Amino acid sequence: MQLTNRSKQVSNKQMTLAEKMYLPEIVKGLIITMGHFFRKKPTIQYPEVKRYLGPVFRGHHVLKRDEQGRERCTACGLCAVACPAEAISMVAAERVKGEEKLYREEKYAAVYEINMLRCIFCGLCEEACPKQAVYLRHDRMVPVFTDREDIVYGKDKLVEKMDDRYVRNNPSVDATPTEPSLSRLAG
Ligand code: SF4
Ligand code: SF4
Repeated sequence: MQLTNRSKQVSNKQMTLAEKMYLPEIVKGLIITMGHFFRKKPTIQYPEVKRYLGPVFRGHHVLKRDEQGRERCTACGLCAVACPAEAISMVAAERVKGEEKLYREEKYAAVYEINMLRCIFCGLCEEACPKQAVYLRHDRMVPVFTDREDIVYGKDKLVEKMDDRYVRNNPSVDATPTEPSLSRLAG
């Protein structure tokens, strides 16, 4: 049974003098090497240079606010349950009188943390959320870090800033073009 059409017939024929000297093969190898030498390099100098991230890219998480600026998350925990990497943890709290402008629901996440070392950016938390509260931005990567303490993201890094609202696939979003991909979308 033939599993592939890439099989090659081998032969025991004697090598010629040129083949025994390996020179032609060495020259062929050098030509290939020189060809690669002058080609455009596929590598980039990250993090100084950043690639364009496509619309299906899943990057930095964002905890959304509603149109009135209130946090949408109700600390139901569904995202944490859906997370295969167990990267999400939270502490729920009850909204008290006077906090209606801060939190949309009666229960909110007093603490919401994502361990980015665990996260595999699968997007399941986004899909599980019944409040459209958590999204993975398609235009922003999690930045390079040097300290383990910095990689557990709390609400200070996750809740969206009012001047940096994120709307998926909407290039006209009023966002600060701090990332190359956002600038490109705007252009
Ligand atoms: S993207 Fe996936 S791994 Fe990361 S926090 Fe969400 S569910 Fe967990
Ligand atoms: S982000 Fe969504 S799924 Fe996760 S706790 Fe908040 S409301 Fe629930």
